Amino acid sequence: MTTDPIRLLRARHVLPSADAALIDDGAVVWSGTRVLAVGPYERVRAEHTEAECWSFSDHLVLPGMINAHDHGRGLGTLPMGVADAPLEIWISGLFALRALDPYLAALYDGINLLASGVTTTTHQHNPCDWRNLESELIETARGYADAGIRACIGLPLMDQNTLSYIGNEAFLARLPAALAAEVRTSGMAAPLPDWRDLLAVGARLVERWRGDERHWLCYGPVGPQWCSDALLAAVSEAGRDMPVHIHAVETRTQAAFGHRYYGETPLGHLDRIGFLRDNVTCAHCVWLSDQDIALLAARDAKVAHNPSSNLRLRSGIAPVLRLREAGVTVGIGLDGQALADDQDMWAELRLARGLASTPSPAGEALSARALLAMATRAGAAVVMGAAPLLGTIAPGSAADFFALRLDRVRGPYLDARTDLLDAVLGRAKPTDVDTAVVAGEARLRDGRPVGLVRGDIEARLAASLAEPKSPAQETRERLAAALASHLRDVYADW
Ligand SMILES: [Zn+2]
Repeated sequence: MTTDPIRLLRARHVLPSADAALIDDGAVVWSGTRVLAVGPYERVRAEHTEAECWSFSDHLVLPGMINAHDHGRGLGTLPMGVADAPLEIWISGLFALRALDPYLAALYDGINLLASGVTTTTHQHNPCDWRNLESELIETARGYADAGIRACIGLPLMDQNTLSYIGNEAFLARLPAALAAEVRTSGMAAPLPDWRDLLAVGARLVERWRGDERHWLCYGPVGPQWCSDALLAAVSEAGRDMPVHIHAVETRTQAAFGHRYYGETPLGHLDRIGFLRDNVTCAHCVWLSDQDIALLAARDAKVAHNPSSNLRLRSGIAPVLRLREAGVTVGIGLDGQALADDQDMWAELRLARGLASTPSPAGEALSARALLAMATRAGAAVVMGAAPLLGTIAPGSAADFFALRLDRVRGPYLDARTDLLDAVLGRAKPTDVDTAVVAGEARLRDGRPVGLVRGDIEARLAASLAEPKSPAQETRERLAAALASHLRDVYADW
């Protein structure tokens, strides 16, 4: 029988969790995939004299961050030809998104996130082809696993309004006849697979990944306006003990959809049909009533906040302080839409802080520790997950953490009055992330993915897109562009 070696990482500072005291000259000891001990180096070393030691002289060790909402597209939508625009317009561009190999997309997203200090991501899958959904999800999981990052993988579910919130037939009826006919023959308005079959795919993946801590399934009904109540009820039932992840009230138009079609807010409706529970995460939640916030808190439903995405797709600014004040758990997600298109979690945290700050001398703001809690413990609540105790470094927790170099954060001068965590949250960049350990293994060393070469993956991605576009692809691009002005008309008075 082989036993896992015991390893010890010593660093100038260790922060075991967002609300713990900072440990100077600290150490983490782990074996296999689990942490055995964390504390001051002298004490921990004396208890584990046999441990193999890695030393980081000027680093801060933090729990691995958790990206609470994303799609693992590999390449952002902007370089793929879909310009930033209000969400309801932008989304029509996704009809013409070229298919990327799901393995390569997840591999590339995985190494980029890991380089930022993210050790677990949430992947809400956008199918290249619904008929291949199961194999796409398996390949996605393999991509993240090879990148060395854990992933909560969302099974996409939707059954209505794919073209517009007014319904596909109603929307097609508003289009010039020739355009409507072209949209029909292009397949863009084709019915989706029966969601009962998709839930069966989900059940098979739950079995396939059972006991695997690298990835696990969550149900991802795409949003209330895209899902019938029957589908949402079935997801509630099937996903009782699993994470369930839904986009909700991302835009004012989506809030208006609730009033038009339910006669109440979308979250009010989700609650009325029994959908809002503690295993449910609502992504975005920009347009919330006071009652919606109270409902989220009462049901202990979680929120994934996506500040860059909300700005780039002109959705607005989510009421993060009010949500937190009400006791709602709020994680933070990049949504594949970071302001600089670079999956930089540090910049995302700073943006979250800036947007949530009340513009008044007496106003509140998110502290460095609150931001860290959003990126760690709250993210863990969103992904739930097979691995216990993500988002913290404690005996028995997942051995997921990273070492951040402090030389640039502190340099060329850092006043003694400046709190170290304020400096880190104010100044850190992915280039400062030195080493990341996931499930006990170093998957990033010296800022580079272990066993993978970024340039090779980029070359494979570029090669996969070097083929000339097919005539069908060019048709979809032309039609998606033609739909934009009609979509603007549909929602003009919402
Ligand atoms: Zn999203």
